[in-house]
Amino acid sequence: MKKSVVSKEYQNLQKDILTLQENWKKSIDSESIIPNPDKAAMSAGVPAAALTSINFKITLFLQWIEEINALLIKSIPELESKLAGISTLLNEETAIRWIDEAFSFNSIYFASFADENGLEEWIPQFLAETALRSYLQLTAEKIQHEITHAVPGAGCPVCGEPARLAVLEDEGKKVMTCPRCLAHWNAKRIECAHCGNDDHNTIQFITIEGDTSSQIQVCEKCTGYIKVIDTRQYLSKPSPAMLDLNTIHLDFVAQEQGYQAVGEPKSGSALSRGL
Ligand SMILES: [Zn+2]
Ligand SMILES: [Zn+2]
Repeated sequence: MKKSVVSKEYQNLQKDILTLQENWKKSIDSESIIPNPDKAAMSAGVPAAALTSINFKITLFLQWIEEINALLIKSIPELESKLAGISTLLNEETAIRWIDEAFSFNSIYFASFADENGLEEWIPQFLAETALRSYLQLTAEKIQHEITHAVPGAGCPVCGEPARLAVLEDEGKKVMTCPRCLAHWNAKRIECAHCGNDDHNTIQFITIEGDTSSQIQVCEKCTGYIKVIDTRQYLSKPSPAMLDLNTIHLDFVAQEQGYQAVGEPKSGSALSRGL
């Protein structure tokens, strides 16, 4: 039904990570997350998690980093030497910084942290982001009832992750889902999540041969794309995080054709593309 380009081992690792995150979420004191869904700020595109007071328990965060390390080493033994020094680098102050920087997608900070400490570049941000997600997911659960739609271009209304995944539910209703915090919100069937364009002449759908459940929705106005998956055909509904991973071939196709995960409204973009 779908062609996955991700190896079975990597899929299994991701599944194990999702299970860890589910467990971690249960160990967070729900009272430590106090949303403040300010309507004006949210309608200006501020992610709800940025308006939430989250009292992070640093000891838990540090323990989770250890658990991810252990899981990574179990799945990919070659990583043992690469991950060996991490725990000694992490104190309370660094952990707080990691949480802040992961929250705001600060790849530059993590790249320089990796560089300064002789780590492979992907490691610090991957660990911080993986641990942070449990808090984001619990925040999304607490605030989901307030979330009906998103501001075009602002990404996920809860965590700010660029919008990239929609599922078609009953009667073809399009629901955007966030693989990072698992929030969901409604969108019009013909509507660009990046620039709000809803003109059917400049929104196109790319289909993949042999994959009847997936489409790539592309926008000629901003050159952004999202993946649209018809999960009505699925026997069991995968979590948005697994769905995102299992449809990574669609990202390759979209990007090969010049579309971007984050749209960029440009003046005269349709003309400059020769359309
Ligand atoms: Zn999100
Ligand atoms: Zn657009």
